[in-house]
Amino acid sequence: MGANVFTDDFDFENRIVDTVEIPSDALEGDNPLRPKTFEDYIGQEKAKENLKIYIEAAKLRGESLDHVLLYGPPGLGKTTLSNIIANELGVNIRITSGPAIEKPGDLAALLTNLNPGDVLFIDEIHRISRAVEEILYPSMEDFAIDIITGKGQMAASYHLPLPKFTLVGATTRAGQLSAPLRDRFGVILRLELYNHKELADIITRSAGILGIAIDEGGAMELASRSRGTPRIANRLLKRVRDFAQVVSNGIITCEVAKEALDRMEIDHLGLDQNDRRMLLAMIRNYGGGPVGLDTIAAAIGEEAVTIEDVYEPYLMQIGFLSRTPRGRCVTPLAYEHLGLPVPAACVQGCQPTLFDNN
Ligand code: ADP
Repeated sequence: MGANVFTDDFDFENRIVDTVEIPSDALEGDNPLRPKTFEDYIGQEKAKENLKIYIEAAKLRGESLDHVLLYGPPGLGKTTLSNIIANELGVNIRITSGPAIEKPGDLAALLTNLNPGDVLFIDEIHRISRAVEEILYPSMEDFAIDIITGKGQMAASYHLPLPKFTLVGATTRAGQLSAPLRDRFGVILRLELYNHKELADIITRSAGILGIAIDEGGAMELASRSRGTPRIANRLLKRVRDFAQVVSNGIITCEVAKEALDRMEIDHLGLDQNDRRMLLAMIRNYGGGPVGLDTIAAAIGEEAVTIEDVYEPYLMQIGFLSRTPRGRCVTPLAYEHLGLPVPAACVQGCQPTLFDNN
């Protein structure tokens, strides 16, 4: 490994272990891997149980479901869950995203086209503009919006009643939502990273749908390298299938999975070159931390939000990074994983704290 870790070529564009959707994830037409019912949706038991009860209650009362906020890292199944909610309610779903709703008029057009009880799914809801947020409040609370047309003396205001709908908002960062917007969600659910068993079940289910032969050992091996994320699990499955077809008789076994993923430089914990280089940059240039998020971002030429949303959740979950009031620290576990001696300062100086949210 060269001394200057910053100048090595990063391949952020084509990360196999990226939690964010990449074009090759999409299969033709409707994604067949997306579960359509709660039964097929593996894991997230707490969120599922809660939602089932709220949906059942709303159906019994003949009312629309309360607005739902789903939050958690990318690729954990927020969009999938919102589709299931609409499916279980027996209503239509309209899908959009925060950045796509540019003006209040765009949101008004979406809302006025809904049928009673419909679900409006807004992905990346933390990215809606202030002006749009202003009209989202009354539409969520009173199911009505006031639209102003024209300017000056020609200005006119119209009060537009809306059908009772359910807003499902998804975000990777609930902390960035304004308090008034957050307060208008009756149901707030956090999605967690998946354990290996759940990911292996997801992989086996997906393999069945795609007609890929995989044994238990193969599914477990892929699961352990999927960073707790179904989107990555499905992606690894598709990549390893190609490998199995060429080098073995098409069956993904533990050995085949291991060999394929080693070749892709995804290690047994699911870390790829980019994770290792980020950790090495922190170690070599900042003594393992504490180092601020923006400094890490500048050092490795990656956006701070990507580090927070994509790299950190998993590295923190496996105990490789910790947050302290003074910045991020590489933990002794990460040093050991990278085959480096653990400096004394790392053991003493970088204890995580419960109070830091930076
Ligand atoms: P998010 O909206 O949180 O980024 P998605 O809902 O798009 O994530 O999920 C990514 C992919 O992972 C989906 O295509 C789906 O096939 C799969 N997936 C997500 N959650 C589950 C789950 N609980 N069970 C099975 N597959 C899942």
